Amino acid sequence: MKKINILFAASECTPFIKTGGLADVAGSLPAAVDTANYEMRVIMPKYSALPKKYTDRMEFLCNFDVPLGWRRQYCGLFKLKVGKVVYYFLDNEYYFKRNALYGEFDDGERFAFFSKAICEAILHMDFEPDILHCNDWHTALAPVFLREFYREPEKTRDIKTVFTIHNIKFQGMFSEAILGDILGLDGIPAASQLLSDKDTVNFMLGALCYADRITTVSPGYADEICTEYYGEGLDPVLRRRRSILSGILNGIDTKVYDPGKDKALAVNYTSLCLEKKAGNKTALQEETGLRVSKDIPLFSLISRLTEQKGLDLVTYILPHICDREMQLVILGVGDSKYEEAFRYYANKYPEKISFLQKFDEPLSHRIYAASDAFLMPSRFEPCGLSQMMSMRYATLPIVRETGGLKDSVQAYNKYTGEGTGFSFANFNAHELLGEIDKALDLWYNDKEGWRHLMKNAAEADFSWKASAKSYRELYRGLI
Ligand code: ADP
Repeated sequence: MKKINILFAASECTPFIKTGGLADVAGSLPAAVDTANYEMRVIMPKYSALPKKYTDRMEFLCNFDVPLGWRRQYCGLFKLKVGKVVYYFLDNEYYFKRNALYGEFDDGERFAFFSKAICEAILHMDFEPDILHCNDWHTALAPVFLREFYREPEKTRDIKTVFTIHNIKFQGMFSEAILGDILGLDGIPAASQLLSDKDTVNFMLGALCYADRITTVSPGYADEICTEYYGEGLDPVLRRRRSILSGILNGIDTKVYDPGKDKALAVNYTSLCLEKKAGNKTALQEETGLRVSKDIPLFSLISRLTEQKGLDLVTYILPHICDREMQLVILGVGDSKYEEAFRYYANKYPEKISFLQKFDEPLSHRIYAASDAFLMPSRFEPCGLSQMMSMRYATLPIVRETGGLKDSVQAYNKYTGEGTGFSFANFNAHELLGEIDKALDLWYNDKEGWRHLMKNAAEADFSWKASAKSYRELYRGLI
């Protein structure tokens, strides 16, 4: 079998730098894909914020110029091996010596540079990729540049491209003026496909038109983004390219999220000794000032506080939650309208509601372990990791049936007693409350039934193994 080399391009990657789920995927997938017949290496920007312990160890390979419209910009190429994965870093201080990764006035130029520099770097690196796998709008122009400007060199001529959508809401839209000035595409007829209207260049649209395969992070989301409701304006092109679009569910790092060994927990437990989990509830109730009792069910919510996560439904039903015999812990930061609502109820009902307004990774582990149920009523959810983490800790998720939530949570069936959580279909607060009531009923009146669901959830496989196999099949299908 021919060995396949894949270059995975991303704007962020753990353990170097992370703002969201993309970094987790870039950090876990390469090692999972790697077998005798597949090698995946990663390429990303050399941000000035990368930890010194990594930058000190990087090897400088070479430097070259990157053509960008009428300019030629410097680019340094660095290499570092961490574990069994090789990483390449593209260096240009003008673009990447900034305080933040994104949100700069010249993001369009910065990430056009990154995408072009990826193509150029291939000509200079000690690796011959068969496939360039790009992710989200930051690298979306690389498949475009590769086809339009790198058809001649032998090393880049036959490279196939894969583009993965992690969140279709962020597309990279910039003024039409950059089409010629920065991207150098103005004289190329096919490049007009990048325009989502006459004034706007849309980077993601470019990748959707040029890539050989398009994927997204769950099969459910792959279907949804072909519809007008979820497609954010890109559904017509996705419907046109539906035959090359597929969804592959992300995994979680089952070593980091392991209730049996997690050092953040008060008490470790596995699916074989679920009774020990309750020790974590007592510890969290003490830590947060909630009434300490094993006889009251503890619900939790850990999230960026944004509209996407369905928090309008949660804030709407807060008075009803306070009426019920249950507790709720919320960990998150974000939009002030949600923060204010959670603060108000936490002040009014300190024994029942606790609002922890911060980003705190170890605390998130303690909450996953301490809770009985986890709320995730998202408006849309490309994949979602929190519901998988909660199940791994035998905490039953209550989710809306959308995107990756629908693909990863098996709804409780009261006739067969099977399931790994609870779910509801419509974006409606009463449906969410209905599922909370169903969960409360089971928790109070059928302890054995609840325990059975906990065991199902804790034993479900959310490792990268299955996803990595699907990616290997996708790559093989391209060669
Ligand atoms: P998204 O990527 O849309 O934010 P995911 O469910 O895919 O949602 O991933 C969210 C990740 O961020 C999970 O690991 C979750 O535990 C973590 N997280 C979210 N908010 C916080 C917080 N305030 N403190 C600690 N971890 C958080």
